[in-house]
Amino acid sequence: MGRLFVRQGLLFILLISKALPALALPLDPNRLASELKMTPQTVRVKLSGLGRIMTVRGTDLGLSLAKKPELGNVRADEWIIDCKKSEIYQPVTGKSRKIPRSGILLESLSGILSVNEKRFREQIVVYPKELLSPYDESVRTNPQCLVVNHINLERYLESVVNGEFNSQWAETAVEAQIIAARTYALYQMNEMRKDHGRVFDVESTEKDQVYLGLDRADNKASELVAKTRGLIMSPKGSVKITPIKAFYHASCGGITSLPEAVWGTHFAGFTHRALCPFCAHSPSYSWDVRFSFHEIEQRIAHGLSVDTNNRKAWPKAYLDNPGRWVLSEVSQRADKNSSDARISDIVFDFTDRDDFDRHIKIRMNANIVRNWLDPVKVKSTLFTIATLGRSIQFNGKGSGHGVGMCQWGAKRMGEKGYTLAQILTHYYPGVKIARIWK
Ligand SMILES: [Zn+2]
Repeated sequence: MGRLFVRQGLLFILLISKALPALALPLDPNRLASELKMTPQTVRVKLSGLGRIMTVRGTDLGLSLAKKPELGNVRADEWIIDCKKSEIYQPVTGKSRKIPRSGILLESLSGILSVNEKRFREQIVVYPKELLSPYDESVRTNPQCLVVNHINLERYLESVVNGEFNSQWAETAVEAQIIAARTYALYQMNEMRKDHGRVFDVESTEKDQVYLGLDRADNKASELVAKTRGLIMSPKGSVKITPIKAFYHASCGGITSLPEAVWGTHFAGFTHRALCPFCAHSPSYSWDVRFSFHEIEQRIAHGLSVDTNNRKAWPKAYLDNPGRWVLSEVSQRADKNSSDARISDIVFDFTDRDDFDRHIKIRMNANIVRNWLDPVKVKSTLFTIATLGRSIQFNGKGSGHGVGMCQWGAKRMGEKGYTLAQILTHYYPGVKIARIWK
């Protein structure tokens, strides 16, 4: 009995001591966190296109060495980062320091700072250009620093709305877009954090979701983000709520596609294609583009030189000397598993310049071919090809990979009065909508 009392007493003390920080005075609103804010709602966004020399401005900017705030916290209103030298310096005092591999954290007293006149909220972490990433070749060879914005996911979404969409479109369509973007970002956060060495979750470009910082946020975007706060899409039928990889694209051209058809990988929540009569009036619904055989030869050779993963299908005879092979025929193969006209593969026939009896025939995934040729001009893989002399004409429909939500279709559904749930389950038939935080 006595022991039990002692233990209870200890427990009581422990509870008291644990509760103590909460009893402390409220945090000084003027005090900077000066350490990485990494709550479950913090998304780490890799920023792009900021240049090699960056001027960071803010109100009484706090600067500390990320993850080691005790190493120093220096204040000023302006810092200049020289990515070429991997240095940060203070223009008033002229003092500089090397950017450590653990990064430099910058945050402003006002909560807003600018990097080369672009405004961002919360925290910016700058890593030196030498930062090695076993995953991302573009980071390893990047001449620029790696700049990452740590920001609350809900606030990040307020900017993504106008990067990817338009806050003035029909409300239910914008809300559907916000939920797709929140779900996608959370999926990436879960995936990227499996590797502790990785310092960002999403890129700020089309590769993930277009994010251009605070300047793109507006009141309407904030209002609709707040209205859908915490809502995500999770696979239907699973008890646990897990974000799906909520792909979306500009316009599907009449029918959506499945991840396995585009990338050869299945993703949870994508069960079947959706017919979409809603994007027929979108700007890129119909398109055509023509490439000469010579252009195609050059783009394939270039594609193979940078995209080493896709060299396997190509014979050594070609890889050793691409200039020796003349393109003699291009043909298409439709997706066998689908009734739509989306092309799954393109077949290239080459003839040896020195021996016309020698041919090689290569079958390539249409999505890779699209990226090699020009993904801006070859807008989707929903195309047919026609040979016109020594050139190939692509006649296509839709814009983007075709997986998940068709943005122009969602816009039209919103205008026609469909509800948020109807829009989402039309394009993501295998999901349920759930709230992960309030
Ligand atoms: Zn569509």
